[in-house]
Amino acid sequence: MIVGDVAAGRPAVVAFGANLGDRRATVLAAVRELAGEDGVEVTAVSDVVESVAVKPAGEDPAAPAYLNGVVLLRTTLAPVELLVVLNRIEDAHGRVRIERWGDRTLDLDLIDYDGEVSDDPRLTLPHPHAVERDFVLRPWLQVDGEATLTGRGRVADLLAALEAGR
Ligand code: ADP
Ligand code: MG
Repeated sequence: MIVGDVAAGRPAVVAFGANLGDRRATVLAAVRELAGEDGVEVTAVSDVVESVAVKPAGEDPAAPAYLNGVVLLRTTLAPVELLVVLNRIEDAHGRVRIERWGDRTLDLDLIDYDGEVSDDPRLTLPHPHAVERDFVLRPWLQVDGEATLTGRGRVADLLAALEAGR
């Protein structure tokens, strides 16, 4: 299988977020760059939504707000290879890792890779915080009304539960 033969690839879900700099330009460039990678075909891009920053202690309205969204893709890259690509695109946009969940020019998270399950801290699948993040679930549902989060159920139900808990 050649690396560019993405029709034979596997589906994955990537969430993007940015809360520093020209957020819209950054997320649009990141999506374009991801789509231009060998072995990656972007099949859907959600609307970009604005959301309050989340820090380890909870929502932080004093921090710069995020623009978030979700991309669906097919890829011939293995999960770790895809993560390397995401990290490279983050780095190209000046991402500096200082504090956990700190402000950043660009965050690209691998939410789901074809239902794979991994508890490796370098690549945990599905993404462990997706279930509690409406800014991931809502755009994901927008581009895939039948989406399911591996091991957790339908994204529509997860989002409804999250909204009911507020
Ligand atoms: P966060 O996205 O949680 O705010 P970072 O973007 O700084 O934090 O990522 C921290 C680490 O999370 C990275 O070093 C990466 O290896 C790891 N990681 C584990 N699982 C995933 C995943 N599913 N998607 C992206 N990064 C992940
Ligand atoms: Mg991240």
